[in-house]
Amino acid sequence: MAEAAGGVAGAPQLRPRVLVVAGTDSSGGAGIARDVETLAAFRVSASLAVTAVTAQTHAEVRAVEILKPALVAAQMRTALEAGPIGAVKIGMLATADTVAAVAECLEDWPDLPVVLDPVIASSSGRPLISEEGVALLLARLLPRAALVTPNLPELSILADALPDARDPALAGQDPVDATAARLLAQGCRALLIKGGHAEGREAVDRLLRPGVKPLIFRAPRHAGSMRGTGCMLASAIAAGLASGQDLPMAIAAGKAYLSARFVEAGEQSLLHSFSGQSVPAL
Ligand code: PLP
Repeated sequence: MAEAAGGVAGAPQLRPRVLVVAGTDSSGGAGIARDVETLAAFRVSASLAVTAVTAQTHAEVRAVEILKPALVAAQMRTALEAGPIGAVKIGMLATADTVAAVAECLEDWPDLPVVLDPVIASSSGRPLISEEGVALLLARLLPRAALVTPNLPELSILADALPDARDPALAGQDPVDATAARLLAQGCRALLIKGGHAEGREAVDRLLRPGVKPLIFRAPRHAGSMRGTGCMLASAIAAGLASGQDLPMAIAAGKAYLSARFVEAGEQSLLHSFSGQSVPAL
């Protein structure tokens, strides 16, 4: 019998698996619920290391419980030892101690691709990581990640936390380009700057890597808002990496997935308004 790449034709295949290190969101709008549904859409399984539990509506965060960093590390280690894990996706980390625990654990799996979504605040504006946490994330996790995926507000907060934040040599430069250059100089291997918070008919993301020509990813800008888009894109990219795709291909597939979800969210919101229910932030 002819064999397909990776196994016998028609035989069941072992699904790739991604380890998600992130927080929960009781509304389902962001965090782990989004990560797991995205991975499932790519036929990728999820292992979990929960960093925090949040109780939130789409409009406000009502409670946050941060799990002990040792428990986060224990979840990661047991998942990684049970393996095989093809990639790690990191979202909400909450504290510097958790950042340190995650970074330390990843030292034992140095070749595992890591997609780092630098989660800084909830969509409703509540901080989801401390200032010390952001500083340590820059120092310890940024150089470890295969890809860091800030949106424009996150990029500006990372810029303020960089050690050379007040470097006069940077005065007068385009702030996005200047921050990107500084993050790459800090050891960041690949930076996907997401243009979703900018304006214009297209959402334009830029992939920047040291010594490589920038790659541009364009998608139509959709009307309306959807929560958890950062979680979804980072998880989709991790799914692609775990499935053996290269970074540009994984990003392109992730962007296509997100566009389809925006269209679906528009339809869902229409159905909600016809059914007379209040419209959740989809
Ligand atoms: N993780 C959790 C638990 C959240 O509540 C949020 C936002 O509310 C995020 C992550 C960030 O989501 P995103 O980056 O997709 O906007």
